[in-house]
Amino acid sequence: LVVLERVNKHFGDLHVLRDIDLTVGRGEVVVLIGPSGSGKSTLCRTINRLETIESGSITVDGKALPEEGKELAALRADVGMVFQSFNLFAHKTILENVTLGPVKVRGTKKADAEKRAMELLERVGVAHQAEKYPAQLSGGQQQRVAIARSLAMDPKVMLFDEPTSALDPEMINEVLDVMVELARSGMTMIVVTHEMGFARKAANRVVFLSDGQVVEEGTPEEFFTNARSERARDFLGKIL
Ligand code: ATP
Ligand code: MG
Repeated sequence: LVVLERVNKHFGDLHVLRDIDLTVGRGEVVVLIGPSGSGKSTLCRTINRLETIESGSITVDGKALPEEGKELAALRADVGMVFQSFNLFAHKTILENVTLGPVKVRGTKKADAEKRAMELLERVGVAHQAEKYPAQLSGGQQQRVAIARSLAMDPKVMLFDEPTSALDPEMINEVLDVMVELARSGMTMIVVTHEMGFARKAANRVVFLSDGQVVEEGTPEEFFTNARSERARDFLGKIL
């Protein structure tokens, strides 16, 4: 569903993505891990063209991402993204946050968008907060709203960039539980996280990135217990 071939990118002199090859099949859940600065966020951002690439190709569902324009907006909507910071619209209610995209980008009727939004808010456990504003919710609740907001666009793939790293410890699991449920429902997901529990429960594959390169990949079991490369073992030694 998502195919990256020999993707390269520099920031100035820094070669931040080096010949990245990555294929994520429909319904597959891939966890991306690696040291700080290894290029995980940049890789996620290239997939929906928040960053441009210099060479190589990226396709989502067989389509290359266009450079700009209407088509880009539509294709971006196919790629949901949830960041470390929740990025909700502060002056809109929770319900409005979730209905805005479908109404504006997908052209969904307001009543239909609201019905679907309430179902999604129910699914992530914050339906009772629908009329509140983001600041009135806890971090964990806001992040679950951010997930619902992405899902409202009916994305083909969901990208998560350290979705729990800004949360207080007691809120991490409520967000991970939603992500595990999403994975089990068959959503295609690329998740940057160091939450090994999530990887073990939900990931089909762990991809280890270091210095902008895919150094190693395997099932969570293989990777966590039997990493082959020195760099991966060194990294695991620091985080486990
Ligand atoms: P972390 O675990 O800390 O989030 P990461 O693996 O997500 O790290 P990236 O954010 O992708 O790493 O950054 C990769 C490298 O590119 C880093 O050295 C970073 O400083 C650099 N970088 C990222 N964005 C930019 C930018 N807009 N301009 C210049 N350099 C950048
Ligand atoms: Mg990052």
